[in-house]
Amino acid sequence: MTYKNCVQDFIDDGTAVTIWCHNPKCHHRGELDLLKLRDRIGPDHGMLFEEIKDYFRCSKCGGKQLGMTRHPLTGGKPNPHRVRG
Ligand SMILES: [Zn+2]
Repeated sequence: MTYKNCVQDFIDDGTAVTIWCHNPKCHHRGELDLLKLRDRIGPDHGMLFEEIKDYFRCSKCGGKQLGMTRHPLTGGKPNPHRVRG
């Protein structure tokens, strides 16, 4: 069964995902590469944080205390509020 909110749905809907680090001394964040993730876990994999969190760790501090936010891409235009980590 294919269910809503799988990796491919996010790609089709133009939903961007930011993963960020809960470590108070780090707070690293980065935009998730959904195409890479699809290659890795498959297009039908669920995108609930509980379902994907084990695939990630912070690239800066190595921490596993991560959070995830999702936000729509605005028609492919660069987002002026984007935070670069
Ligand atoms: Zn970190």
